[in-house]
Amino acid sequence: WAKAEGRGRWATYDPERRAREQAKSAMVVAMSAALERDEFTVDYQPIVTLTDGEICAAEALVRWRHPERGLLGPDEFIGLAEETGLIIELGRWVLTRACEAASRWLRDFPDARLVVSVNLAARQAGDPSIVATVSEVLRRTGLPADLLQLELTESAVMAIAGEPLPALRRLAALGVRLAIDDFGTGYSNLAYLRRLPIHSLKLAGPFVDGIRSSDRQGLVDGRIVDALVRLAHALGLSVTAEAVETVGQADQLRALGCDAAQGRHFGAPAPESEITRYLATRADGRREPVA
Ligand code: C2E
Ligand code: MG
Ligand code: MG
Ligand code: MG
Repeated sequence: WAKAEGRGRWATYDPERRAREQAKSAMVVAMSAALERDEFTVDYQPIVTLTDGEICAAEALVRWRHPERGLLGPDEFIGLAEETGLIIELGRWVLTRACEAASRWLRDFPDARLVVSVNLAARQAGDPSIVATVSEVLRRTGLPADLLQLELTESAVMAIAGEPLPALRRLAALGVRLAIDDFGTGYSNLAYLRRLPIHSLKLAGPFVDGIRSSDRQGLVDGRIVDALVRLAHALGLSVTAEAVETVGQADQLRALGCDAAQGRHFGAPAPESEITRYLATRADGRREPVA
């Protein structure tokens, strides 16, 4: 009859929930300590132009080298960091690291003009000091604004505190590029999308995953991707496909007019040095796959 009494009241005495809550607060404490102890690290995944196969950007993806639990992916701690507000500090740290890396690439390989793409949580985008933070990081690292792209998911855009449109306009006014991440998985209001000062759409993995199969569903997914690419281009946006795992997917995406792609087929997320090594190899005139 605990349920009949109302969840809120009895949940307090639920030992499982209590254990979960304790684990959560332990995580929060550990996460702020981890920032000080430099346990976070940023990997970079190449983003490749589909027409020529050249690397054009790299997405910064945060990881946590947890002393006991090993390497943790963002899905294990970003949500909690958002909930607690720690994402502001962690996000600034990632942004700084990413811009530092990109300015090293610009210094050593100026012709490549590699863009670094950084994920922005709703809470960061809605933070009144975000514009000051981004321009300060750009100034300190010397990275030209147009070599920084900020990625926001549709739901992050909708969840921006205050008004999404002015917040995004202020960011765009810095000269940085804005991309909608995981496009197609969220709530898409096309009329609204039209008004956003964005530069590109990142097509969510599940659509890309579907086009590999030659069955009916694969055909449908292919048509959806076709429609989304046309839609993006009609809106003046470029399209990057995520989670491209096979050459077949890459070929089909190219045939559909998709502009760029990332995924294990082109290269998994890896340390900065791996992108640097690839750029160096290319500068030497030798060509080899990104991976
Ligand atoms: P995302 O921005 O959509 O990043 C792409 C995800 O796809 C990454 O997962 C990447 O490792 C994964 N991926 C790469 N290649 C493939 C592939 O061939 N197939 C498939 N299925 N997946 C592939 P990851 O690194 O686990 O990151 C998960 C999410 O965490 C990211 O999704 C992003 O939303 C968030 N995230 C990562 N770093 C940050 C950060 O610094 N700040 C914020 N706010 N969010 C972050
Ligand atoms: Mg992303
Ligand atoms: Mg994504
Ligand atoms: Mg995502």
